This record gives sequence, structure tokens and C-alpha cells, in this order.
Amino acid sequence: MTDIGAPRTGVAPGRETAVDDAVPAITFDRVGVSYGRGQKATRALIDFNLRVAVGETVALLGPSGSGKSTALNALAGFVRPTTGAVRLAGRDVTDLPPAKRGIGVVLQSYALFPHMRVADNVAFGLKSARVPRRELATRVGEALDMVGMSAYGKRLPRELSGGQQQRIAIARALAIRPRVLLLDEPLAALDAQLRQSMLTELQRLKEALPDTAMLYVTHDQSEALALADRIVVMNDARLMDVDTAENLWKRPPTSFTAAFLGGANLIPCTVGRVIGTAALVGVAHKTVSAEAPQPAVGRTDWAPGSKALLCIRPHAIRVVGLGDRDALRANVTAAVWRGAHTRLVLSVHGLPDQLIDVDVPGAVAFATGSEIGLRFPEPAGVLVQAPS
Ligand code: ADP
Ligand code: MG
Repeated sequence: MTDIGAPRTGVAPGRETAVDDAVPAITFDRVGVSYGRGQKATRALIDFNLRVAVGETVALLGPSGSGKSTALNALAGFVRPTTGAVRLAGRDVTDLPPAKRGIGVVLQSYALFPHMRVADNVAFGLKSARVPRRELATRVGEALDMVGMSAYGKRLPRELSGGQQQRIAIARALAIRPRVLLLDEPLAALDAQLRQSMLTELQRLKEALPDTAMLYVTHDQSEALALADRIVVMNDARLMDVDTAENLWKRPPTSFTAAFLGGANLIPCTVGRVIGTAALVGVAHKTVSAEAPQPAVGRTDWAPGSKALLCIRPHAIRVVGLGDRDALRANVTAAVWRGAHTRLVLSVHGLPDQLIDVDVPGAVAFATGSEIGLRFPEPAGVLVQAPS
């Protein structure tokens, strides 16, 4: 019996090979990178593990120097891992030269060839990938079309604005139809307004490329929140936390992530009664309610009497009059108008050695040194483990 009726599973139209959704598009397997040797060696990436699914967008978010670009470069083949392996669609590519990996890469500095016209810049990767000549024009046209730059093929890079140059760099990366697209701070060189419109463009591009896995390096949390299906928070050469943006925001697993994502206040507190995922905690001589998320594997529980941090975002705290008996009392140490809100920096009675940020809507004048009342929301915030 012949099986002519059998479905051709996994082969998408226009794809030369099957896409197996069960195999991650990107795998970092215990990757370590050190620059230099001996005493002077910098450990830029330590025991880094990550899997990115087919079509998934993951942001690497962290402060400058935390190892984000090093991770991206290890995958692109620009730096050699000192330990561990990188895999693309399950295939170990640790020893493969960059051009043979079939990855699209976009960097902060657009790195266009200044003497080549836009179309030739975009065609560059196609030529190294030995795409037949008769196909070049179509592929270049298709890539320029994706970034809305079809009319600019004959220009030189210097005849384009910064935002347009970055679009060409993206088109060049897309021309090879990569399964994996790496972007390293692609918007960092653009001014604020342009950054916003390019961010919208990237969102659209992501929708248009449902099979392409993206790794997006940024130090800007708003870019990560806008684009990523999951966010990896990096600090000091290590992966701190990885989860969806919503989970990291609502229930930060670490104090670092709580502070880095949204600038939360982390107020020392003492855990009291815990029922399920609700807790009563003592903070500044008062008892308030808090959310007590199920601790992750390997972490200690919220034991009554133990010290923890209460994570409260600046916009969630309300300023009230001093007549409010239940309110905490605080002194204004600084008040800065930021447009949509006024940021107050407060010293709260009963919380020595700690300043609290509070955002009050609109432009409100507060005299430095004046005393005000504060009300936390209900529950006041979410518990975060105090760093050991
Ligand atoms: P990020 O992209 O998060 O800003 P990087 O991955 O560029 O961080 O850098 C991580 C660490 O490695 C930093 O301490 C940086 O100074 C160091 N580093 C990066 N590139 C090199 C290099 N080529 N040689 C030596 N040290 C480097
Ligand atoms: Mg970097």
C-alpha cells in the first residue's frame, strides 16, 4: 500500500526544510564567555542557559556591561564561547563561522557599506549565501518592501536619515530569510520620537514574520515590554530571571528585577500571617496586606517572622492629608515634575535609611521638608525575597 494520502507535516510552503516546532530555534547550553586570560580575564557571561522557540521573541534586558551583547555575539559567532554550546534548530553551531549560521544580525551602529547603494547593501548577504543572480532583485525588493523602503534602492547610505539607515540594516538582515534574527540595541542611536515609531515598525515586522525567532538586546525596559514574548533579565554576566513581561512585572522573582523593571520601591518588612497567596506584613509599625506569590523551586517559603521586601510601584501609593489616622507619615525630600506626573522622593517615618518614590498625577507643588500622609493600596504590594 502506498501512502499518497499521508499529510506532509511540518513543511511550510516556500520552506526548503521542515520546521520542527518542538526543537527550539535557539539554544544556549551552559554558555560561558571570558575575555582575556589569567588574572586579567573578564567573565562576561557565566553559565548562560536559554531556549527560544520557533517564532518567539525574547528580549535580553539589563544594565550596561551585564553581558547581553556577549550572549548575542556568541550566538552570531562573533565571539567563541569559553565553555558550553550554542545550537540553532537543534544543530550545534559553536564552531561554525558566522556567515554559515544563516542568522540575520542588526546592530546599533547600522554598519552599512558607505560606498554601496542601498540595494547593494541589502544584496550583500545574499551574494555570500550564493543566492542565484536572477533571484537577487526579487529578494532585495522583498526585503526593502518589508521595511517600507522600496523607493530608496538607488540611494547611498549618507543620503538617508538615521532611522532610514537602520531600516536598511534590518532589510539587509531579512534578505537571507533568516529563521533567527538578532538585534543588538537597534534603536539606541535614534532620537526619542523616532525610537517610538521604529518600535511600532518592529512590532509590525514581528507579526509579519511568525516563524522567525528573535533575540532582542536592550537596556530599555519599554522596548522589552513592547516587543518581547519573554524577557531575560541580565545582571553581572548572569541570567537573573526569565519569564513573560507580565509575570516579571506583577510578581518579580528577585529584588533586582523588581527594581530594574519599573523602578519599584522595595521596602523591608516582616512576614506575619500567610494564608495561601495572601500575607499580612509589618512595615513601619503598621500591618498591611501583601500578595505572597508561590515561591519558585529552590527558594524558601514566606515563613512567619522572616524578613522580606514589599515591592510597591511609585504610581500605586497615594498621598493623603495628615488628618488620615491610618496613613503613614512622610517628609518630602524632593519633588520633580515629569510631565504626566510629579515624582516625590520621601523619607517615611519608621523606615530609617530608606527613601520611597511616589508618583502623583499631574503637576503638584510640594515644599521640600513638608510633611504628608501616605496610603498603600490594598493589597499594598507583592512580596519579594530579600537578597541573602
Ligand atoms: P552589555 O551588552 O550588557 O552592555 P557586554 O556583553 O558588551 O555587555 O559586556 C560584558 C562585559 O564584558 C563588560 O564588562 C565588558 O566590559 C566586557 N567586554 C565586552 N567585550 C569585550 C572585549 N572584546 N574584550 C574585553 N572585555 C569585553
Ligand atoms: Mg551591549
